[in-house]
Amino acid sequence: MEEKKKLPELFGSMVFNEETMKERLSSTSYNTWKECVTDGKTLDINTANEIAEAMKQWAVDLGATHFTHWFQPMTGATAEKHDSFISPAGGGKVIMDFSGKELVKGEPDASSFPSGGLRSTFEARGYTAWDPTSFAFVKEGSLYIPTIFCSYSGEALDKKMPLLRSMEAISSAAIRILRLFGDHDTKRVIAQVGAEQEYFLIDKKMYNKREDLRMTGRTLFGAKPPRGQEMEDHYFGMLKPRVAAFMQDLDEELWKVGVLSKTKHNEVAPSQHEMAPIYCDANTACDHNQLAMELMKKVASRHDLVCLIHEKPFEGVNGSGKHDNWSLATDTGKNLFKPGNTPSQNAQFLLFLAAFVAGVDEYQDMLRGTVAFAGNDHRLGAQEAPPAVMSIFLGDQLSAVVESIVKGKEYKEQGKKTLEIGVDVLPTIRQDNTDRNRTSPMAFTGNKFEFRMLGSSQSISGPNIVLNAMMAEELNRFADILEDSEDFREDLSYLIRKTFTDHQRILFDGNGYTDDWLAEAERRGLSNHSSTPEALKAYTAPKNLDLMRKHGIYTDEELEARARIHVENYVQVVSIEGRTTSDMVRKDILPAVSAYVAELASRIALKKKAGVSAAYEQKAAEKISALEDTLMEGELKLVEDLEKIPEEIHNAMNYCHDVILADMDAVRKAADELEILVDRKAWPFPTYSDLLFSE
Ligand code: ADP
Ligand code: MG
Repeated sequence: MEEKKKLPELFGSMVFNEETMKERLSSTSYNTWKECVTDGKTLDINTANEIAEAMKQWAVDLGATHFTHWFQPMTGATAEKHDSFISPAGGGKVIMDFSGKELVKGEPDASSFPSGGLRSTFEARGYTAWDPTSFAFVKEGSLYIPTIFCSYSGEALDKKMPLLRSMEAISSAAIRILRLFGDHDTKRVIAQVGAEQEYFLIDKKMYNKREDLRMTGRTLFGAKPPRGQEMEDHYFGMLKPRVAAFMQDLDEELWKVGVLSKTKHNEVAPSQHEMAPIYCDANTACDHNQLAMELMKKVASRHDLVCLIHEKPFEGVNGSGKHDNWSLATDTGKNLFKPGNTPSQNAQFLLFLAAFVAGVDEYQDMLRGTVAFAGNDHRLGAQEAPPAVMSIFLGDQLSAVVESIVKGKEYKEQGKKTLEIGVDVLPTIRQDNTDRNRTSPMAFTGNKFEFRMLGSSQSISGPNIVLNAMMAEELNRFADILEDSEDFREDLSYLIRKTFTDHQRILFDGNGYTDDWLAEAERRGLSNHSSTPEALKAYTAPKNLDLMRKHGIYTDEELEARARIHVENYVQVVSIEGRTTSDMVRKDILPAVSAYVAELASRIALKKKAGVSAAYEQKAAEKISALEDTLMEGELKLVEDLEKIPEEIHNAMNYCHDVILADMDAVRKAADELEILVDRKAWPFPTYSDLLFSE
């Protein structure tokens, strides 16, 4: 039997990581690469050639025959085009070849990725360029090279390039602040992210019987099963053997490519699970989350399971989200959101906290916009996920601290008067799980913020870009003031106090699921964009364009192109769902129901002939026939309305939201009622009980 590799050996065994580079590169090349990563210096072609050669050798040793520039187009998924290493060597032979030029730059000619109008048709080509800050890896016989994807003139066409730009922006802004506090060692500040990923696992055979799952990733029909998630026995419950085997397999695959998969458990809903990795820099975290989603799907398939990453695969059952845990740390390893032990550390912590609070308040609509898409609309505000209103939860202790700063009130916990910034020590802030407010969209959890509005299927890039950008903006604003200060402590105290005072409205520790909060939020002037069309309108507001332009993250054209892609995506998703709804009604549900009514009719005739009561059949046939008519009419209206989707893309988005989704709801309502009335054997596809409670 082949001996299994121990975890430390297995971990990163398929990654061209720092250790491997040290081993396989000359010290000059290794150092050049290192400087490129830490100081942003560019790589010369000779170094690139040496790295390419070493990378190829290493990959070939691991069985790779191809290489691919692996990138993250605006579809939200990843894309890859594989080229083999072979190059003719004369005499009908080949050698394995890979040059620095091929490593650094590629031309996937990816004219059919969404660009939001950024690429004119005569220059449809996109270019990929190596991202040396994220490690290459080998998977399925190919060397994967993480790359950015841009147009001929350098406009970002992907999710990585702007993320890297935002990480630069936050780093330089944070360093300005650190210098003011006497830190002269930190060279970089790194946005750190840990993305918790929720998903469902269902049986592959059943999945294949449902067109809605195959076409749209979610069920468009399905009556509530007799049992839902009310037993709460699934959360952290025992893993079913097939699921346990899947998870073990998944962990191994993730570890091999260097993903720090740490925890796995069952989630609230039946058949729902979660994987959380250990955090790392935002860029790698984003790559790793994409890899995790991809590997979840692939590994599930080996176990005859299908992994659903949609936000709301089943109506009436909790959906799946992604918690984006975010913080800032210095390259020397200090977490800037960790309350310190000395007055000076506290003052610095409070300043970063104030910047965050101000940023979330000022850019609440932009943050909301980063999580706006058709799938997530089924979750946000639905009593299982945060509301669509942005707010920050600080917890009892920190809230008391902020309040004492704002009001100059007695600060209870330490029996002191007003907390004096830069003089007093903060209480130890508990990192307590039980203290968590699960209803908050943005919660402080001791040394990081947890952004909980993300949908399970989305790239984490967008939300982190905005977190980094807003933070860079506020910190730069603070630095502008404090760098000119003549009385640092005084001005610092004033600034912190003023910031918390001005942005108090965004702080909320109560229950975010109640209507009272929505009313209160409205009084406070917080925005509440309950659907994607509303949220996307606010996404490109002038102040948001300003923010991104100012920090060199997006030009106006880039951001507007992105917004357009999101609008188009919404229209496409809802149209496909509408067409699939119609298809299933025509080809599955109506034929099955009609056959069943005919069957009842013949039973009625037989029973009448035999002189026995056919009351049940009669009643059932009448009810079912009536609903059958409703269903047919609803489907006809849906089809007619699908024909009328307006040309102009924003009108189309509003129309899809207002008309198509409403039509689909009406169709579904009739179909779900029919499901309850029709014989189990006659129903054309697996039901919720089959899907959610199978072994
Ligand atoms: P919980 O599971 O209770 O929400 P954890 O501390 O286990 O809290 O963290 C959840 C996620 O947050 C993990 O992915 C973890 O790696 C990440 N995380 C922890 N600390 C930080 C931090 N300082 N910055 C960013 N992410 C973090
Ligand atoms: Mg969490």
